[in-house]
Amino acid sequence: MIIRLKPGIKAKDLENLCRALTELLPDSAFIRGREFITVQAPAPELLSERSAAIENLPGVFSTELSLGEACPMVVKAAPPDLASLFKKTERKNFILIAGPCAVEDEASYLASAIKLKAAGACALRAAVFKPRTSPYAFQGLGAKGFGIIKKARRATGLPAVTEATSESQLASIGKFCDIAQIGARNMRNYELLKAAARSGLPVLLKRAPGATLKEWLLSAEYLLKHGNGEIILCERGDSFSKPDRRGLNLEILRAAVKATALPVIADPSHAAGDRALVSAQALAAVKAGADGLMIEACLCPEKALVDGHQTLNIPEFSALVKQVKKLREL
Ligand code: PEP
Ligand code: MN
Repeated sequence: MIIRLKPGIKAKDLENLCRALTELLPDSAFIRGREFITVQAPAPELLSERSAAIENLPGVFSTELSLGEACPMVVKAAPPDLASLFKKTERKNFILIAGPCAVEDEASYLASAIKLKAAGACALRAAVFKPRTSPYAFQGLGAKGFGIIKKARRATGLPAVTEATSESQLASIGKFCDIAQIGARNMRNYELLKAAARSGLPVLLKRAPGATLKEWLLSAEYLLKHGNGEIILCERGDSFSKPDRRGLNLEILRAAVKATALPVIADPSHAAGDRALVSAQALAAVKAGADGLMIEACLCPEKALVDGHQTLNIPEFSALVKQVKKLREL
């Protein structure tokens, strides 16, 4: 931890500060500079616990935790076993999740799932609880959709990724689906993160618009701290609304790839908000080092109740997969 001192701090205040620090951070090593004090603590968790109290001490301007100090488990996490996570997939090293924005009706979902598998998807988007900006917008089929997901899993052998918008949905998601998604709106829903960790399901964790790398990784830290290391991070851009989508934040994606061994994937569909922009952003994410993609794709995007304008059709999805394969030499 770096403790920045207020400019011109008096010698007496510095003495008092150092005394207070040794009490707040027992067994730690302090290196005193003119403008800051560097601290090495035996356990990084103590630094997070005490940083607010330290910032409150006279003479302290600010405190700064490194990523390793703030998220010790994320930076040390072993990558989850993707082969077992994506049980029946042939694509072991690249995570390709595809499907319509929402499960809408059985016939179109099953037909799309079969085509997407044939085109190279290794998991299905299978959302039945949709977090919508408007309460009047289609909210998803809810638990009624699980029967459709069950059939799609059976027909394709692919695992289903389903967003949990509340704790109460996790038990049934665990019964009918394979991976729980924590969406951008809920990245900061810490009770939901704890419950998702306890559910034992692998978790796909999206970055919230505007969230910093550290905030995103701290949400992953919640999952790890509460016993779940099967995490996929997903970058999805910095806005919810058209026409101010800003696309994927490749800088944060790349920083996440460097900071952790957990897989980091990109969702260019929600980042771009426009089908014409999705493939270019997907390929940019792959070039930036993404370990996979989540793509909205289905047989008939023009008939979709949700996000059809940013959903690829099957030929578009197949063409994208071919380009990804070329880039990744899959
Ligand atoms: C989604 O993937 O269905 C979704 C709602 O995305 P986000 O949480 O990124 O907005
Ligand atoms: Mn969508």
